[in-house]
This record gives sequence, structure tokens and C-alpha cells, in this order.
Amino acid sequence: MENIRYLSGVSTLKLDQDRCVGCGMCELVCPHGVLALQNGKAGVRDRDGCMECGACALNCPTSAIELSPGVGCAGYIIQTWLKGKSSYLGKAASCC
Ligand code: SF4
Ligand code: SF4
Repeated sequence: MENIRYLSGVSTLKLDQDRCVGCGMCELVCPHGVLALQNGKAGVRDRDGCMECGACALNCPTSAIELSPGVGCAGYIIQTWLKGKSSYLGKAASCC
């Protein structure tokens, strides 16, 4: 999924590592491999891969992750539309 890119530098994803307990849920649920555990704490590995689906924030037990879900979905659909890959549209709709 790393070939799918969000608009560079605009993701609203915020991670508070002080609140992170290293459970790994965010890494597990992220469809784009944006988050990864490093030394027992989550870290942002690929910010521009974030489509703001909100799965990480919803599944974080300590509310260490914040973002404004939704905008990324639109970006995802637009990119897919421009590329002419209609097979992605079902996946995009399921994240909203
Ligand atoms: S889900 Fe939350 S607590 Fe768990 S690793 Fe990710 S940021 Fe840390
Ligand atoms: S909002 Fe979605 S794409 Fe972005 S880091 Fe969280 S789970 Fe991954």
C-alpha cells in the first residue's frame, strides 16, 4: 500500500509518545504501515502515507493518537480517480 500517497505534509496525525504504552494496536490496524513500534513506543514511520481513516486513534487504549478523520479519504479517492483504478474505490468507501 505504500504506492498510495496522501498529499505531502498535510496529514493531521498527531502521536503523543508520552501516552503510548506500546501495545502495538495502531501498527496492527493501520492499512498503510504509517505507524510502527520502536523501542517499545509507537512512532510515525511514513506520515505522508496516512489517509486519516482514524483506525489507529479509535483502537488506541490511551488516546495517544489524534487526527481529523475524513480528509484523507477524499484525497485517496481523488488519487484513485486520477490513476483510473476503480478497484480502489470500494476500499476507500469502507474507510469513511
Ligand atoms: S495504540 Fe496507542 S498505546 Fe498502543 S502502541 Fe499505538 S500509540 Fe501506543
Ligand atoms: S489514520 Fe489510518 S492511515 Fe493514518 S496512521 Fe492511522 S490507521 Fe494509519
